[in-house]
Amino acid sequence: MILYARIIGVNEMENRQLVIVGGGPAGLSAAIYGRRSGLDVLVLENGISGGQVNVTSKVENYPGFKRIDGMELAKSFREHTDMFGAEFRESRVESLLFEGGDKIIRTDKGDIMADSVIISSGASFSKAGCKGETEFTGRGVCYCAVCDGALFDGLPIAVIGGGNSAVEEADYLTQFASRVYLIHRREEFRAQKTLIERALANPKIEPVMGFVVDEIAGGDMVERVVLRNLKSGETREIEVDGVFVFVGLKPNAEFLGDKGPIRRSRGDWIVTNEKMETSVEGVFAAGDVRDKFLRQIVTATGDGATAGMAAYEYLSNQYYLRSALLEPERVRAFFMSSIDPGHLAIAAQIEEIEKAGGRGIMKIDAHRNVRIREKLDIKELPAIVSLERGRKVRERVVSVIDDVRDFCKTEMP
Ligand SMILES: Cc1cc2nc3c(=O)[nH]c(=O)nc-3n(C[C@H](O)[C@H](O)[C@H](O)COP(=O)(O)OP(=O)(O)OC[C@H]3O[C@@H](n4cnc5c(N)ncnc54)[C@H](O)[C@@H]3O)c2cc1C
Repeated sequence: MILYARIIGVNEMENRQLVIVGGGPAGLSAAIYGRRSGLDVLVLENGISGGQVNVTSKVENYPGFKRIDGMELAKSFREHTDMFGAEFRESRVESLLFEGGDKIIRTDKGDIMADSVIISSGASFSKAGCKGETEFTGRGVCYCAVCDGALFDGLPIAVIGGGNSAVEEADYLTQFASRVYLIHRREEFRAQKTLIERALANPKIEPVMGFVVDEIAGGDMVERVVLRNLKSGETREIEVDGVFVFVGLKPNAEFLGDKGPIRRSRGDWIVTNEKMETSVEGVFAAGDVRDKFLRQIVTATGDGATAGMAAYEYLSNQYYLRSALLEPERVRAFFMSSIDPGHLAIAAQIEEIEKAGGRGIMKIDAHRNVRIREKLDIKELPAIVSLERGRKVRERVVSVIDDVRDFCKTEMP
């Protein structure tokens, strides 16, 4: 079903149903699900579509592909999305503004007003910043243990970092590697005590404390790391076949600003529920940018599918509400909070009255429909309102079902 309706009326700003920020696996999957549901979908991407998959040499853990070149997988994600007609725009999202319930996406190519937004802007690994790191990325320098650990079966590797990720992943990597040199610039790790204890008890892990990596060197592939002690200046070389860098991972969420209505966890990851809904109505997040357990292609595509369908459900509901609430000659609606037991009890009693032959009263969860609530200027809940062609003609805050009965008695027949 194509949803032609718009929540907002015609204005000068470009107006879209679903805007997706970021065209990686999460964004492209969301676009496929959005388009297949009939939504008008615009994907904004400031790099190459396919996201981080483009910098993955070989992917071996995406179902259906035993081993595939990252760029090839990224290309087929894009082709699949194109097949359903999602619109792409090379554009950088600079900020997201929420004004009176409107969602405005500020980009380097102008502002866009969206009925719903999916944020799938991914995450970025921090670099160690040493000589050879960029040169050997994909040739022994890695940033993801789950992705690339198996490539180093029976080989010695180095892990750079001293936080939770470095210590935990060093331990994980010992199931493949013959030896793991855990290199940290300080004399003590910053990770949680239990993680440190477990890692240090692992005979395959050798901590190298107080050293920085000056250089990652080799021929075609990584062959060694050159270290320097920060206090004594002593240098040391260790022969390794791989270097895993875990000095930080952060979400690409700068465009949300330091503060803002979208809830984020420590580290700035976007918090969602299982429908990928953020704390702002009509705004969803999917993939690596959100607070989650496993950041992989398969989980990003799953998130994207959920977000695409959740956005469709949200928009259908909004368009339905618009036509059922704001267009009819006369209509009555009960605005409530679906998490308040008192409000739910009144809603159930209204349904009983309806079953007994009373006139219908629409029941609207005000928290999930902030925009309509704001439009109708309903300040206190629960409230019953009468509307005539979208114009509020009466409103009453109610506390018991008799208040609703009184309201209806003095109302139209
Ligand atoms: C080297 C490496 C190897 C990996 N190997 C594997 C592997 O083998 N298997 C596996 O499952 N996973 C692997 N991963 C992880 C996997 O690639 C990610 O989990 C996955 O790509 C996340 O998808 P995403 O759509 O959430 O984000 P991303 O892939 O990061 O895509 C986000 C997109 O958003 C765009 N974007 C960001 N900010 C903006 C903005 N302001 N405006 C517009 N666009 C923006 C970016 O350009 C990017 O294209 C690897 C990652 C790396 C770095």
